Amino acid sequence: MAHPLSHQDWQRKAQSLAIEGRLFIEGRYVAAQGGGSFDCSNPATGARLASIAQGQAQDVDAAVASALAAWNDRRWRGLAPRARMQVLYRLADLVEQHADELALLETLDMGKPISDVLNIDLPEVTKTLRYFAECIDKMEGAVTHTAPGSLHMILHEPLGVVGAITPWNYPLLMAVWKLAPILAAGNCVVLKPAEQAPLSCTRLAQLFIDAGGPAGVFNLVNGLGMEAGRALALHPDVIKLSFTGSTRVGKLLMGYAGQSNMKRVALETGGKSPQIFMPDLYDLDAAVDRAVGGIFDNAGQVCNAGSRLLVHHDLQTAFIEKFVARTQALYQPGDPLDPATTLGPLASQAHQTKVLADIARGQSEGAQQVMGDTAIAMPGAYVPPTLFVGHNRMAIAQEEVFGPVATLIPFDTEAEAIALANDSVYGLAAAVWTRDLKQAHRMVGALEAGVVWVNCFGDGDMTQPFGGYKQSGNSRDKHMASLLSYTQSKSAWFELG
Ligand code: NAD
Repeated sequence: MAHPLSHQDWQRKAQSLAIEGRLFIEGRYVAAQGGGSFDCSNPATGARLASIAQGQAQDVDAAVASALAAWNDRRWRGLAPRARMQVLYRLADLVEQHADELALLETLDMGKPISDVLNIDLPEVTKTLRYFAECIDKMEGAVTHTAPGSLHMILHEPLGVVGAITPWNYPLLMAVWKLAPILAAGNCVVLKPAEQAPLSCTRLAQLFIDAGGPAGVFNLVNGLGMEAGRALALHPDVIKLSFTGSTRVGKLLMGYAGQSNMKRVALETGGKSPQIFMPDLYDLDAAVDRAVGGIFDNAGQVCNAGSRLLVHHDLQTAFIEKFVARTQALYQPGDPLDPATTLGPLASQAHQTKVLADIARGQSEGAQQVMGDTAIAMPGAYVPPTLFVGHNRMAIAQEEVFGPVATLIPFDTEAEAIALANDSVYGLAAAVWTRDLKQAHRMVGALEAGVVWVNCFGDGDMTQPFGGYKQSGNSRDKHMASLLSYTQSKSAWFELG
C-alpha cells in the first residue's frame, strides 16, 4: 500500500530528524564511560548520520547492574500480569504513533526501502509486542497427579537478567522478537544492537519508559561486537543470552558462555535456504515471483533468503527467462527514501565489498552468471540482483552471501532435490513447490529445516515458531514456545501430612 508521504516529504523530514546514539541505562540516555564513539552513516549516500556511543565492558557492567537491581526489587516481575501487559500494549501503540520517525531511522541507518519498513517491519513489530502481551496471562503451570497427602505444582518463573545481541538486517524487528517475550515473561534485559544500525532500537528504549515501563528493566548498550557484545556474553550475572546473527559469532558465544557462568545461549543464525521447484507445480509465474521476492526482498539481507533455487531440468529455461524478466520489473534500485523504491543499498559499504567479492568468487569458480553483471550506477552500497547457474558444491551455493545473489541448481528427481537441499551446514528454511500433496508431505519430512513452506515462501504469523536446524541455530523466535524459553520451571512439592 502506498504511503501518503512523497519522496520529497521524506527527504524533508530526514533533514530535521533528531538522532540519539547514546546508551540507555536505568531509564535514561548516558554517554559511554570511556567517552568513546563511532560514526554511523547512511549506506545510500555514505553521509555521516550520527555519533554512536561506544560502550565497553564497564558500560555493560553498569547496564547489567541496573537490570539486576530491577530484577531483585521485583519492580517488573512483581507487577500483576495485566499491568505488564498494559505496558507492552502501550509500547505497541507508541511504535505506531512514532512510525514515521522509526521508519526514517531504520531507512537512513541501514538502507531499507522506507515502504518496506512501514508496510512490513513496523506492523510485525507491533504484532509481536501485542502477541506476547496477550500471552502473559495465558501461560499456565501444572498440578501433577501425585499420591494422596502430597501436592505437586510446576511453576514457570522468569529467569533474571537476559542479554540480547541482535543483527542489522531487520534492526528493530529482530530485537523485538527477543525483547517482547523476554519482557512478557517478567525478565529484565540488556540489549546490544548491531553497531551498523543501532538507531531504531536506541529510540525504542525511551519509548518503553514512555509506555510506563519501569527504569532499569530495559537497558541498551551500543557498541562493537568484540567489545560490548563480548562483555555481555561473558557477564556472570546474565543468565541467558539470546542472539540473532551470524553462525560464526554464534559459535563464539557458546564459548563465552562456557568460559563464564554457563549461561543458556539461544541462537538464531545463518541460512542458505533451498526452494525446490518440482515439474508439476501449479503456476510457474506465481512460483517465480516468490522466488524473486525470496531472494531480493531487503536486498537479500534475510536469514531465510531463498538463495538456492533447486529447479527441475524441465522447468529450467522458462524459469530463468521469467526470473530475469520479473526481477527487472520488480527490483529496480532507488533511493530508499522514495516510497516507490523496492531495492535499496546494502547496509554498509563493508558489506557491499564482501558481497561483490562473493560474486567474483562465483564467477571464478565457473558458475554461469545469467543476471547481475552490470554494476548499479548510483553512489551508495548497491549490488545488482544476481543469478548464477551452478552446482551445489560451489562456494556460492554453500556459503551465506547475505545479499541479492541466488544460485540456480538443476535436478532431475525428488531424491536428488532432497539430497541437494540437505547438503548444507545450514537448516533454517526450505520450500517445496508441487501440486502433489502426498509428495509435498514426504518432502517436508525429509527436509532438514526448521521452517518448510509448501507452495509459498516466507508466509507465517505469530503462531509459527521461527528458527533453524543444524548450524542455523538452536532456538525458536515467535510462538508461545519463545515465551516459555525465557522462563524456567520450578517444581514445588508439598507434603500435606
Ligand atoms: P553478526 O554475527 O556479525 O553480528 C550480530 C551481532 O553480534 C551484532 O550485534 C554484533 O555486534 C554482535 N557481535 C559480533 N561479534 C561479537 C562477539 N565476538 N561477541 C558478542 N557479540 C558479537 O551478524 P550480522 O552481520 O549483524 O547479521 C547477519 C547475520 O544474522 C546473518 O548470518 C543472518 O543469517 C543472521 N540472521 C539470522 C536470523 C535468524 O532468525 N536465524 C535473522 C536475522 C539475521
